[in-house]
Amino acid sequence: MDMHVRQDESLDLFVNSTLQFERALSWVDGVKEGIIDFLINPKRTIHVRFPVHMDDGSIKTFHGFRVLHSDVRGPGKGGIRYHPNVSEAEVAALAAFMTWKTAVVDIPYGGGKGGVICDPKNLSRDELRRITRRFVAELGVNIGPHTDIPAPDVYTSAETMAWIYDTEVRMHPGANNLAVVAGKPLEIGGSLGRDEATARGSWSATEQLLKRNAVPGLTSRQGARVAVPGYGNAGSVAACLFHDAGAVIVAVSDSRGGIANEEGLDPRAVLAHKEETGTVVGFPGALMIGSGDVLTIDCDILIPAALECQVTTVNAPDVKAKLVVEAANGPLTAAADETLRYKGVVVLPDILANAGGVVVSYFEWVQNLEYQKWKLDKVERLLNQKMCDAVDETVDRFDELVQRHEQGENKDLPGPTLRDAALVSAITRIASVVLQRDIWP
Ligand code: NAD
Repeated sequence: MDMHVRQDESLDLFVNSTLQFERALSWVDGVKEGIIDFLINPKRTIHVRFPVHMDDGSIKTFHGFRVLHSDVRGPGKGGIRYHPNVSEAEVAALAAFMTWKTAVVDIPYGGGKGGVICDPKNLSRDELRRITRRFVAELGVNIGPHTDIPAPDVYTSAETMAWIYDTEVRMHPGANNLAVVAGKPLEIGGSLGRDEATARGSWSATEQLLKRNAVPGLTSRQGARVAVPGYGNAGSVAACLFHDAGAVIVAVSDSRGGIANEEGLDPRAVLAHKEETGTVVGFPGALMIGSGDVLTIDCDILIPAALECQVTTVNAPDVKAKLVVEAANGPLTAAADETLRYKGVVVLPDILANAGGVVVSYFEWVQNLEYQKWKLDKVERLLNQKMCDAVDETVDRFDELVQRHEQGENKDLPGPTLRDAALVSAITRIASVVLQRDIWP
């Protein structure tokens, strides 16, 4: 894909998120440059290298990171990723996303992210367990219920979180360690509704956005034609929720290919097929298409739910959706984002659209600290409220920015977007806390 994109277009998440941040800054009023400089860069990056016994008797050294991007509004919060391509820049970008996300939905956290360079597909469960325990031990007091709270991310799971919790208990016996990590199994302090939270948040946010008439030509999920590139956890649950709300799922994909049916796919039957065969490809009665074709298929709502930088200047001109709901982090390059804006495609940005996961992680933390177990309907009700409030605030901010633009502010720039609005709200909220707390000493 790299060689096809525009020469000045990067596929690096860090580069793209920085470009988007800089664009939003033109709308930020009255925040001193020094504070912006403090907010944009990570507060702390920890590198650890540690040895692990491998199953074949050898010893291998692993390299891991934990970036605490910001703890201005509360402890750091963000997942731990196991992947061969994990890098400091990627982890830093994802940690920054978490800072903006927690501020947009107004939960009392900052942003963090971690990762270990490893290939989980070629590691045994025992090797992964030893890597996890040693990584957590190396991070020591830099993670904790009130300092920086990990969660699952790519190739880490509830089981990994259980190992993290248990390691923390070994290091800090006699304390309530449950809140050190989110996304745990239900039996050890996990929250009901966590599995579905990201997609449910995207679903609630979309409904509220449509209610606010923020998408020209689209007023309801009912009857909307929806395409979901990336039929994993977030994507498949989103497809089921949209289908249940009366939308028609016209196409979905995974890394092996895509499937389409103008009459609509049954998302649960597709999921059962994927569970049985390992892919959505070959689903009976559907047209087989390329996975990239799903991004540009004729639809009303596109929900990219795979990896970053899937929509570039190569395919953005062909996107036909009226609304893009970024269930994935950074699915559009900054240049593709610009192209969609010129086309009049509304983008519900990742830092709002996929914040449902961290909102329910926060609910898990509250339950853990209070030794409570909430019922599912309470989790879903509070999640829906959080998402609707955040959408309302973002749309109000967007209207304000549009008005300022019409009055001549930033005349040389194209009009603002919902992403600009969400980032401006986040930056303003965090900057105000920096000043109210005062800069010490
Ligand atoms: P997942 O691994 O369950 O699903 C990803 C899916 O994308 C898989 O089905 C994979 O086959 C597919 N995929 C990979 N490459 C593809 C390609 N080129 N074209 C089409 N499909 C492709 O992961 P997930 O947990 O659902 O996360 C997906 C995205 O959502 C990530 O960007 C993640 O950071 C973001 N996200 C997830 C959560 C969460 O709680 N799961 C929360 C916030 C953000």
